[in-house]
Amino acid sequence: MPAKNASAEPATAVGCSSDHELVLEIHERLQSQYGLPDGSRRSDPTEELIRTMLSQNTNDVNRDRAFASMWDTFGSWKAVAEAPAPALAEAIRPGGLGEIKAPRIQNALRVVHERCGDYDLSFVCALALPEADAWLQSLPGVGPKTAACVLLFACGKPVMPVDTHIHRVSRRLGLIPDKTTANAAHALMTSLVPENLIYPLHINIIRHGRRTCRAGRPLCDACVLLDLCPYGQKEVVAG
Ligand code: SF4
Repeated sequence: MPAKNASAEPATAVGCSSDHELVLEIHERLQSQYGLPDGSRRSDPTEELIRTMLSQNTNDVNRDRAFASMWDTFGSWKAVAEAPAPALAEAIRPGGLGEIKAPRIQNALRVVHERCGDYDLSFVCALALPEADAWLQSLPGVGPKTAACVLLFACGKPVMPVDTHIHRVSRRLGLIPDKTTANAAHALMTSLVPENLIYPLHINIIRHGRRTCRAGRPLCDACVLLDLCPYGQKEVVAG
């Protein structure tokens, strides 16, 4: 992971004298609106890995349906890894793209087993952050977002996963340059946000992206971040 304030352009907004103050202000306003998310619970790293792979191009409800269906059908990681691919694709069909996701999941599980002798990824959480991130991203089909989800939600490490909502909202707010790719945004957001705020900001920016800063027609007039947001101010002026 890069040092703090790596190559992002200045994110400072009106009324905030530093990027740090801007991030704190955004956090406090979103916390007032949506509450403080409880980041104390940890998921199982292997489950988090597969759940995140299942989440690609679908919503949380369908991802969870797909995971439940897969576990009801196979009941162990060994059985998931060794199942005929069409059977796994059928089991995870509620999450969509079953034919694509099934071989990806099985390839990742097979490599975990080849390297570790089992499917337990708990050891990753004991590695230093750069090593843990590199190990996870060396698995087939695992990119920065999937690795970041495992590192944050299962290991409690200070990494910001960037989904479509965080990518959109953080660019509109000017936290990261507008042309930043989603993959590049993980490192920039991780370097910008204080470690103790990564979990609550991750959750609350997603909530904000779903409810207010929507992709199509953001509700800028009703947004608690409007005076901090260059994109929103242009939208309001443009009517
Ligand atoms: S002001 Fe508009 S664009 Fe900016 S964060 Fe709020 S809803 Fe999104």
